This record gives sequence, structure tokens and C-alpha cells, in this order.
Amino acid sequence: MDVLSVASEVYPLVKTGGLADVAGALPIALAGQGIHVRTLLPGYPVVRSQLKKKKPVYQYDDMQGGKASVVSVKVGGLDLLVLDAPHLFDRVGGPYGDPTGADWADNARRFAALGRAGADIAAGAIAGYAPGLVHAHDWQAAMTLAYMRYGAAASLPTVMTVHNLAFQGQFPASVFPSLGLPPQAMALDGVEYYGGVGFLKAGLQAASAITTVSPTYAQEIRTPEFGMGLDGLVNLRAGDLSGIVNGIDTEIWNPATDTHLAETYSVKSLKGRKANKRAIEDRFNLDRDDSPILCVVSRLTWQKGMDILVGAIDALAGMGVRLAVLGSGDSALEGALLAGAARHRGRIGVVIGYDEGLSHLMQGGCDAIIIPSRFEPCGLTQLYGLRYGCVPIVARTGGLADTIVDANEAAVSAGSATGFQFAPANIDAFLHAVHRAVTIYETPAAWKSLQLQGMKSDVSWEKSAARYAALFHRLASKGLGTI
Ligand code: ADP
Repeated sequence: MDVLSVASEVYPLVKTGGLADVAGALPIALAGQGIHVRTLLPGYPVVRSQLKKKKPVYQYDDMQGGKASVVSVKVGGLDLLVLDAPHLFDRVGGPYGDPTGADWADNARRFAALGRAGADIAAGAIAGYAPGLVHAHDWQAAMTLAYMRYGAAASLPTVMTVHNLAFQGQFPASVFPSLGLPPQAMALDGVEYYGGVGFLKAGLQAASAITTVSPTYAQEIRTPEFGMGLDGLVNLRAGDLSGIVNGIDTEIWNPATDTHLAETYSVKSLKGRKANKRAIEDRFNLDRDDSPILCVVSRLTWQKGMDILVGAIDALAGMGVRLAVLGSGDSALEGALLAGAARHRGRIGVVIGYDEGLSHLMQGGCDAIIIPSRFEPCGLTQLYGLRYGCVPIVARTGGLADTIVDANEAAVSAGSATGFQFAPANIDAFLHAVHRAVTIYETPAAWKSLQLQGMKSDVSWEKSAARYAALFHRLASKGLGTI
């Protein structure tokens, strides 16, 4: 089976979050299920640099105001189709915004172009390539399904995967004429969304099936609290909605071979973690003592509950634990965390920035990872934590609820506990969970049992890829197209 995947970021080429990890890992896992995935992504500068001497497989004289082409290239195990449209994507800055962090003003055009190219490829634009299903990731790819629905590939089955419903691609109605869709598309059951144009909404409306990245999040987005304005539509489509938890790349994330670690280790012996913990103490200027080091690797945002962490900093320091934070995001939160580190020198260390290597070292050397998210579609850092024996302390929401077994008495005595859950996501509940963790940490054998149980959890893509494969086959055999 041939599947065309459309995504705005793909690891290892370009990554701002978990979406890239999934778009980069799922094709490789699906290959093991007999499914061949080609992935269409935009030609940002980092992607274009891979394109030397590559021939276009399809060309546009005018794609949203300039010449564009689709170029086929293989990178690692990935079979990529790059939408090379320099006027839209070849610029200094991030995939979605300029270097100051402001959204690119022409994002509607940029990702409409991605969708248009996706739909054209679905309809057979590339000679000799006829995908049997199209898989769109998040709002940036969602218009693929709208263009298919109103164009030549309306009968092909499609899957819309929501990695985060908070990002919707909502634009004013004035962008509609530039999309090149027929007038009837500007309707309640089309791309119209609260008087404007909604890219994700259009994809949710058009898809044969909708998936989110965990079963709990699939249920949560049916409620007004998590549905972010789309719960009505999500409920209408509830019969086609399911949740499939993300896996992780267990080769990249393998404490036995990880070159980012000061010392490697495995489930057979956790001794190597000590050298990593020392390296963390050095990197974050933390005191050397026997207390646990809790860590955070995260976007610093309200969604991630980073204001809860900020509110709990003094109490954490008072509990005698140490804290290492790696992240970037809201400048107010960055400032508050740095201020906390200044107040508690030796106890709290903060690195503002994005550092893939350091994130590995933290999982390999810290004792626990804190994830106090208000909502979390799946979350990856708790899965890395499980794999590295860095015990997750998580808010009970979305994928965090689905992947961590709370160390309550029953789970501890059954030997099935892998971490700590708390709810609701507030300072008191969070501190209570940390207190429970610290109490267990004081009994090394009990803590080690938590670590080992987590390290034995299956966090690979295998099970999840099989679920995607089953869904794809079911849709293909039904001959279901966009509605
Ligand atoms: P989201 O996609 O919502 O940001 P996820 O937990 O699904 O959250 O994925 C976040 C990914 O980004 C993980 O791979 C995590 O390790 C990585 N990450 C987040 N912040 C940083 C950072 N400051 N430095 C390095 N990696 C980071």
C-alpha cells in the first residue's frame, strides 16, 4: 500500500515539536507493516540544502504567486517530496514565524500551497505514483484534504491526524479568494470557520477518518474545555475518531548507545546514570549532594503548565530537591524561571534554548521528569523518561494519562507503577505528587523498581504503527473517500 503523508515538519530535517518526531518515525515503522510512505513537506532552507542536483517531478508556473516545483529526495530511510517554492518557504526564520517569533503574514498562502501540492499529487500529478491513501498532519497539512474533496481526488481515503487541537490555522475570510477553491467551499460544512477560514476545521470536515495521538485526548477534545471551538464538529465526527498513542525512535533514544550521555547504561545496570547526574550538576551549576534532580524539557508555555512550575519553585527548593530546566518559549516564563534560579543558586538551574543533545543527557542523568501540562495530546518526553529510567511526574491528561502508570499502592505492590500522576493541573496537586515521588526516592530499591518498570515499557512504534496500518487498510478496503 502507498500512503502520501503531508506534514510541515519532519525529523531529522526540521523540528519544532512532537509532530516532527511522528512524521519522521511513523514512515519507517510503517515500512515494517508493508506500507510505503512518501512524505510531502515544505522546502525550508534546511530542507532545500538536501536537494542538490535533484530533478523536479512536478512543476508549477504559479503556486501562490511564484514558480514552484516538487522534488523527490531520499534522506535516511525517508522518501520525501519537497515542495520547493522559494517565495513561500526559503527564508530566514522558523517554519511558521519570523526570527522574532511572529507568525509569517502569508501563512495562509504558504500552507494552502502545501495542501494544493498534496492534493495534486494525490490526484496523480507525479508520473508513476498513485497513493492509495492520504495522511495529513495538523492544520498546516489539512488543506490537502479540502483540495482533494473539491478536486480530482475526492474518492481517495484520507486520515487527518490532530497532534494539537490548539493550533488550528484560523484566518480571516479575506484569504478565501486566494485559496482557489470553488465558492461553495466557503460554507459551514466546508472551510468556513466562525466567519473566517479554518484550515484544521476544513481537514476535520473532509477526512474519511480522524485520529489524535492518544485515546484520552480523543475523548477530551469532544468537550468544550479541550475542544477549543471545534468540539461540536469533533462530536459530529465522533464515529470516525480514534486515538493512537505515539511511539518513539528507540534507536535514537537508547541509553545503551546514546552518544549524548557521559556514560551509557541499560536495564541490566543503572550505574552509568551516576556519571550523567554529575554532568547535569556541572551543566546546570547544581550543588553536589544526594538529593534527587527533577528536570523539565519543554516549550515554556501555559499549555505545558510552566506557570504552575514557576509558582511551585520556592516550595520545590524548600523540599530539598534540585531542578534542571531546559526550554524556551514565553519570555515572561523564561524570565520567571531564571529569577527562580537566581533565588536558589545551586538548587535550581535553567538553560534557555533548544538543545537536543542536552535533552538526552537530562533524561539519562536526572531522576525524574516533570510534565505538568494542562492538556497534552500525547507527549513524548514522558516516553523518553520511561526509556531512560527518568521517572515521569505528570498531569493526568491526554497521552500522559494513557502512558504512565501511577505509583499508587496497588500499582506499587503489583510492580506495575512507572511514574506519578496528579490532577488537577495546579500547584498543590503538583507539589503533592513531587512529595510522593521524594518519599519513594528515599527507598532506593522502591525507586529503582519504578525506573526498571518504566524502562521495560514498550514505547516503540511497533504497536502504534500496526494500529495505523489497520486503520489505513480498513479505509482502503471500504473505498471511503473524503466526504
Ligand atoms: P510538543 O510537541 O507539544 O512541544 P512533545 O512532548 O510531544 O511536546 O514533544 C516535544 C519534543 O521536543 C520532544 O522531543 C522534546 O524532547 C523536545 N524538546 C522540547 N523542548 C526542547 C528543548 N528546549 N531542547 C531540546 N528538545 C526539546
